[in-house]
Amino acid sequence: MSFSALSLHSQLVNTLAELGYQQPTPIQIEAIPAILAKQDVMAGAQTGTGKTAAFALPILQLLLLDNESLDAPKEIRALVLVPTRELAVQVQQSFVKYAKGTDIRIGIAYGGVSIEAQQAEFKAGIDVLIATPGRLLDHLRQGALNLKCLSVLVFDEADRMLDMGFMDEIKAVLKQVPAQRQTLLFSATLDDSIFGFSKNLLREPKLIEV
Ligand code: AMP
Repeated sequence: MSFSALSLHSQLVNTLAELGYQQPTPIQIEAIPAILAKQDVMAGAQTGTGKTAAFALPILQLLLLDNESLDAPKEIRALVLVPTRELAVQVQQSFVKYAKGTDIRIGIAYGGVSIEAQQAEFKAGIDVLIATPGRLLDHLRQGALNLKCLSVLVFDEADRMLDMGFMDEIKAVLKQVPAQRQTLLFSATLDDSIFGFSKNLLREPKLIEV
């Protein structure tokens, strides 16, 4: 199995070759076609399985295709919610690496640093935002960001997000996200609490366990 067999955009295939990725990992083989087909996905995957590329690559591809048919100013179209600042930085770095050579702009929002500095960066426009729930809400409440054009919502390390008590923040964010969207959930464990959480969020998700 090759990345081009997964029908990825040639720009992305070239970037992956430059990075020395020879073939997709099992989660990528399962998740990439489903995400490109705009299906919801619920995946049980540990760090190290290639889970970040499993959602980042098809999201970038969907945005690239969208760009070809769009000329209006762009708002955030993909949001990745993560539990910690460290994961936010890692996921952002992955997106930047895979988006090389494209015009897709990646933003980041996490707490513990100046909110004004983050907002200055948003002014130029962002296509993909990686955010921790609390700081995202602060930005939304201040009107610095809006999620009206969101087409893809990702929960990364959803189990840790629940363990860390982000439920209220997540509910508040969900109120500002279009109901008509694609939702992807990645979690190290798929237990009852995750299934309960996903119930009203995902629509007939493809279930992937690696
Ligand atoms: P993750 O599970 O997302 O934390 O990714 C683990 C590591 O695997 C990261 O350093 C990625 O850059 C790398 N990686 C992801 N997909 C592939 C692939 N298909 N081939 C080689 N390395 C990969």
